[in-house]
Amino acid sequence: MLRRQGIFAIIGLIALFTVLHLGFAPETHDPRTTGTTLLGGIAFLLMTCAIILSTRAAIFEDWLGGLDRMYQVHRVIGVLAALFALVHFFGVPKALPAGADPALNAMVPSAPLGMLGLIFLVIGLFIALNRKIRYSFWRPTHKIMGLVYLLIFGHFFTAPPVFVLQFSPSGLLLLAAAIMGIVCLFYSVFGMNRRTAIPFTIEAVNALERATEVVLKPSDRTLDFKPGQFAFVEISGKGWNEPHPFTISSAPGDDRLKFTMKVLGDWTRKVREELQTGGEVMVRGPYGRFDAEGAGQKQIWLAGGIGLTPFLSKLRAMQPGDKRQIHLVYAAREEQDAIFLDELRDRAAQLGSVTLVPLFSDEGNFARVDMMKQKLPDPLNSYEYFMCGPKPMVDGLMKDLKAEGVPRRKIHTEAFEFR
Ligand SMILES: Cc1cc2nc3c(=O)[nH]c(=O)nc-3n(C[C@H](O)[C@H](O)[C@H](O)COP(=O)(O)OP(=O)(O)OC[C@H]3O[C@@H](n4cnc5c(N)ncnc54)[C@H](O)[C@@H]3O)c2cc1C
Repeated sequence: MLRRQGIFAIIGLIALFTVLHLGFAPETHDPRTTGTTLLGGIAFLLMTCAIILSTRAAIFEDWLGGLDRMYQVHRVIGVLAALFALVHFFGVPKALPAGADPALNAMVPSAPLGMLGLIFLVIGLFIALNRKIRYSFWRPTHKIMGLVYLLIFGHFFTAPPVFVLQFSPSGLLLLAAAIMGIVCLFYSVFGMNRRTAIPFTIEAVNALERATEVVLKPSDRTLDFKPGQFAFVEISGKGWNEPHPFTISSAPGDDRLKFTMKVLGDWTRKVREELQTGGEVMVRGPYGRFDAEGAGQKQIWLAGGIGLTPFLSKLRAMQPGDKRQIHLVYAAREEQDAIFLDELRDRAAQLGSVTLVPLFSDEGNFARVDMMKQKLPDPLNSYEYFMCGPKPMVDGLMKDLKAEGVPRRKIHTEAFEFR
């Protein structure tokens, strides 16, 4: 669900810092020093927010509308922080103000820490934004940003008073942010949700068309989730490496947990070719706010390819008598690719309130707004939209729906990638 409280909170924090920084600027500071330290402080606050978001805390999912949005915001504010830090670096006066003691100034490590922080920041940013780097390599190297944060904190904390007053109102705000940021940093790097991982046993590995269904039996307790939510799946054993996110395709309350995984890269191929029943899997979650239950009565669900999984869970969870009128548009390359199509047809027939619209691109049928206008009984802006599928499809539909007058708050998306 689209939420903006988190964005407003970040903007509010920056505004508060700006007011405190400008309002209590020491008279001894010239405007250039005040301005560039303001930018440096904003960069530090943005980095702090990015680190806080990387803890995946549920409250921020509520404030931003899901973990996928949290990571989008994490990326945007990370880039902004780097830009502010660069302007700060190049703009800050290099010559000491009159009256400052050069010998004393040379003894504090602030400048070398800042320089090191900046070098690692540029390297880290290059890695973070380079989509060609494989995820399994990208993930551990992205942790370099934690080191950058600590270096920049050291730079701020040891800065001489001719530049920064750590115990001024704005300095205290930065110190409070730093304490929170460092706690969150250690939590995300070393302790991330270890306690909440639930063990399951692999009961079945079912081969589907270009995908694999993995059926898990709880070893002790099962996962409590809402239809459309996802979890991180970590397979125990050599060579399985890091956890991967997958939408839960079974319904809440089922005695088995199911994931449907499209074969995309090395990990998902290994699942299909090597995963054995009887092995252990740790499941961490649930995450996501792709929740259609509290939305309007008339809903359009748009699924592209493997983007069907959240809707599969929703459909499996629906009960006869559900008051919502749902049109499920399921776009696939060809009929053979449309996994679970027979089950979807049966469920739609049982439920009565769900209309299934399969679209196959090899027959020239695509999920498009003009098609919807023709097939839907009511005007487009009377529906609430839930979309999950390839980015070009989702972005194109979003643009066209908005152009047709559908308000953004009525369009909900789930992205199948974090970076
Ligand atoms: C919220 C969410 C829900 C998802 N639900 C499903 C689903 O129900 N079914 C499905 O088939 N796919 C789903 N995915 C996508 C799935 O996570 C990736 O396809 C899978 O991790 C690819 O792994 P790979 O090594 O085989 O492929 P690769 O080719 O290595 O990776 C392809 C892309 O997947 C992403 N990715 C890879 N590894 C990870 C990781 N450990 N953590 C996060 N992202 C990673 C990266 O963006 C990468 O560029 C979901 C993704 C997200 C973010």
